[in-house]
Amino acid sequence: MNNFDLVCQKCGWRTVFSGPLANCPICHSEQLEATYDYTAAFGRWRTELHERAATIWRYRELLPIRHTSNIVSFGEGWTPLYRAENLGLMLGHPHIYIKDERQGPTGSFKDRQAAVAVSAMKEAGIREAVVASTGNVAIAYSAYCARAGIKLWVFVTSSVPTEKMREVALYGSEVIKVAGTYDEAKQIAAEFAASKNIFLDKGIRTIAAKESMKTIAFEIAEQLGNLLAGEDPMAPNIRHPWRVPHWFLQAVSGGLGPIGTMKGFEELNKHGWAEGMPKLACFQVAGCAPMATAFHHDLPTAANVMHPATEIATLATGVPGAAYGILRDYIKQYGGTIDAVTDAEAFRALKVAAQMDGISVEPATAVTFAGLFNLLRQGTITPHETIVLNCSGHTFPVEKHIVGDQFTRDMTMPGQGTAEDTPREDGLLTALEELDERVRRIAIIEDNPDAARLIRRILQSQGDFFIDEATDGIQGLRLIRETRPNLVILDLMMPGLDGFSVVDALRADPTLRDIPIIVITAKELSPIEKRRLSGKIKGLLQKGSFMDVDLMSDIQEVLPE
Ligand SMILES: *Cc1c(COP(=O)(O)O)cnc(C)c1O
Ligand SMILES: [Zn+2]
Repeated sequence: MNNFDLVCQKCGWRTVFSGPLANCPICHSEQLEATYDYTAAFGRWRTELHERAATIWRYRELLPIRHTSNIVSFGEGWTPLYRAENLGLMLGHPHIYIKDERQGPTGSFKDRQAAVAVSAMKEAGIREAVVASTGNVAIAYSAYCARAGIKLWVFVTSSVPTEKMREVALYGSEVIKVAGTYDEAKQIAAEFAASKNIFLDKGIRTIAAKESMKTIAFEIAEQLGNLLAGEDPMAPNIRHPWRVPHWFLQAVSGGLGPIGTMKGFEELNKHGWAEGMPKLACFQVAGCAPMATAFHHDLPTAANVMHPATEIATLATGVPGAAYGILRDYIKQYGGTIDAVTDAEAFRALKVAAQMDGISVEPATAVTFAGLFNLLRQGTITPHETIVLNCSGHTFPVEKHIVGDQFTRDMTMPGQGTAEDTPREDGLLTALEELDERVRRIAIIEDNPDAARLIRRILQSQGDFFIDEATDGIQGLRLIRETRPNLVILDLMMPGLDGFSVVDALRADPTLRDIPIIVITAKELSPIEKRRLSGKIKGLLQKGSFMDVDLMSDIQEVLPE
């Protein structure tokens, strides 16, 4: 059990974490931070780190998940750190290091966020979630939610490249394309979640998101320690001091990456695990640069950019909120800058990185390379300083023909292009209502959580069912009486009242008699048991030997569209 505390940054209220909190119960501030028993954590790292797996979870004492059994993982993290040799030669700078986040399971550093956030959802028992995204969060969350058995509703803007939306749809998420800006998509997502009472992932404002990004700092320090000692950066570092670079560079939209990374470096620094803090350089695209503009005018808050003008959708966040102040404070304290680069500079840098060092990145990442080139040219970064660049995402070729053409649903912002006089609120509620077409309910009664998750996932990815679950026969009967499902999917071997008895109870009750039942069991049925079920159930599937299509075709027979 990994216990950690929540502390309110505003009033100092503190509690042992026992589940997600929207805000501080005393002062209602949303600024809650996780804090850990650092002495115990570093003590365990000292003796155990060398034999731990090369994933973000090697640092689990400083991550906000209480039980390792809730971790949803593809082995994310421990991405390579290497020197950009040819670029370095060309630019006259020998210490440019690439933290290659393209090598995450879905091709961007959002995999760290998805791993921790989705594990936290699993730990909180969440089965359905809503997220807004400029692209990569949607892809990463979709993959992890598929694995965790969580149905995901993704709100993206129409500027997100089709290839990325297709990838999201492939994972079985619901993709809603909002004709508006990212900040409007976020707003719509929040209203949809509230109206449907579905969990909303608040991105940078969630504990899990920020904590996940600390692992970038931990890995950089551990790997750079090896590298600067002339050893293999990919080996666990137990012999050399961990090292903090002089600079950490990243292109930003919401700013989560650098905020979490700086928190990670601060934890190492404050508790004596690594010396120093990096200067921080953040880059925005000139067509959407609220933070860079405010920073260069030395303003404490940034003015929102209502109409982003950039091809680089990943970075088109015009409303930086509190993130700007946090980044600015870090830079005031440790040095650094927030700069803007043009789309044209980014696309030029994209080619340079690919052609000089074989690093093919997505345009958002190219913004970081372009920013680096500018800082070197200006002499802001000097040749003896070590630089680590967050190589945040890959440009991978995308298979165009596997999910057909109809993989998003269009949503028009009420009031747009129509002459109707419906107030925005009414129009929006109707539009949100229409997004969720589900009318049919299925109850799953299953005591094995893995089996329940598999069945749930098959149903979720088909899209159009409300799913309720119970973990034993008694609970199951109560659930069926309350929700009157259109179908019951039933396990046979369960503690207390078993599946056979549930079947008998349902068939004996005239009000429940007609609800169809499909049995899914690991049990080899004896002839007597088969007779006991005969005529009372609509389908029988053997665990471990049926595919999604088998279950769906059984369901189709009982519940035609
Ligand atoms: C999200 C993202 C960014 C911006 O990161 P933030 O820390 O959220 O501002 C940069 N590059 C890529 C590839 C991204 O996916
Ligand atoms: Zn408070």
